[in-house]
Amino acid sequence: MNKDFSVTFYGGVGTVTGSNFLFAGPEFRALVDCGMFQGDAGVGGRNSDPFPYDPASIDFLFVTHAHIDHIGRIPHLVKAGFNGKIYSTPETKSIAELMLLDALHIEEMSSREKGILALYDEVDVRKSFTLWQTLPYRMDHEITNILSVNLKDAGHILGSAMYLFTYTQETGGKQTILFTGDLGNSPSVLLPDTEYVDEADYVVMDSVYGDRNHEDRYTSLNKFKTALLEAISRQGAVLIPAFSLERTQTILYELNNLIENKEIPSIPVFLDSPLAIKLTTIYERISSLYNSDVQKDIKGGDKIFEFPRLKETARVEESKRITNTPNPKVIIAGSGMSTAGRILHHEEHYLPDPKTTLILMGYQAPGTIGRNLEEGIKKINFKEKEVIVRAKVVKIDGFSGHKDSDNLVDFVAHFDTQKLKKVFILLGEPKSSLFLAQRLHDYLGVKTVIPEGGKTYSLD
Ligand SMILES: [Zn+2]
Repeated sequence: MNKDFSVTFYGGVGTVTGSNFLFAGPEFRALVDCGMFQGDAGVGGRNSDPFPYDPASIDFLFVTHAHIDHIGRIPHLVKAGFNGKIYSTPETKSIAELMLLDALHIEEMSSREKGILALYDEVDVRKSFTLWQTLPYRMDHEITNILSVNLKDAGHILGSAMYLFTYTQETGGKQTILFTGDLGNSPSVLLPDTEYVDEADYVVMDSVYGDRNHEDRYTSLNKFKTALLEAISRQGAVLIPAFSLERTQTILYELNNLIENKEIPSIPVFLDSPLAIKLTTIYERISSLYNSDVQKDIKGGDKIFEFPRLKETARVEESKRITNTPNPKVIIAGSGMSTAGRILHHEEHYLPDPKTTLILMGYQAPGTIGRNLEEGIKKINFKEKEVIVRAKVVKIDGFSGHKDSDNLVDFVAHFDTQKLKKVFILLGEPKSSLFLAQRLHDYLGVKTVIPEGGKTYSLD
């Protein structure tokens, strides 16, 4: 039995997606996240490759949050023999169930189209949840006699957690390692700020926006309002490709405020995503995890995700009828990077119209239609036909769910940097990770490592 503690990075290396880290010590092997690769990172069958470790040998899986690039391969892991315990916050578990059932549907459809066997089926998804236990924030939980964990609020999406592990070495000495998962863009519209952590020996952190800063929330809100008012005056449609989880609820909350405060006229808004509709009901049920402004709204009696002329179109026939509603109107549909989902039909229909406004509100991975649109491409090949893009494309990044470069540095600056032995920089495109590693080293004097995929790093 290996006496050392170590960490190996099997995903999220040189890419934002595919989060999957192995944290091992004497008598335990734990994974942090088991996510799907997306965009170019997922090309070439990486999601269906056998796991580079024996899933049956893994004791625990700790899930930072319910985005697919952090949970998407869990049912595959279970099918491949994993039979340990899965841990997350209660909210992450509830959301993950909806997300994985939705992903199963996509997996089944795409494998049918390709004429191959699906990677997993509903039995594997259901089994994942029989193994799943929940842990609240900010309490010490003993996992084994040499390993304990405390969950901190990452402020990224509802239920998102950082895992601060304390492990006891053979000498009796204790060390700590923090896995941040994705770090929230505080102050967020809906959530409390990311918790600071004072002390850790090792940190494994996100660097999606390691090389860029966001415009602030108020600039973004103004841009959003201006784009809506312009579209209304042009009598055009507004398309918002939205991530169903958190981004959609943020957009609904901001629309609710703009309309109720009469800053924009009331126009039809379609929430055209069955998954987003279901997820919004989870958001409506939970009130204690919001920031104080949102809690005040809720206590004041406002239904924060509901306003006049908002229509949820869960059924396909309802979705198809959206085109019959005259402009101006807003259509919110998934997926957020235009890789699948109903947004593709709307884009095919509305992008050739110069009166249309397309609003991009989040990270667009290389190789996706969203990224091409962001970069100003004028011709898009959809499944059915090629269309010319004449729509106005507006990029708003202040609603991003991720900390920008300055805030990532600020997060690390709150540690006792003398005590930090190493900061591993992951979950970013190479130039982002490199830039952040350099900044942390130059400004704070901390030792940073951009790990190689599959290489094991000792935590002694
Ligand atoms: Zn995330």
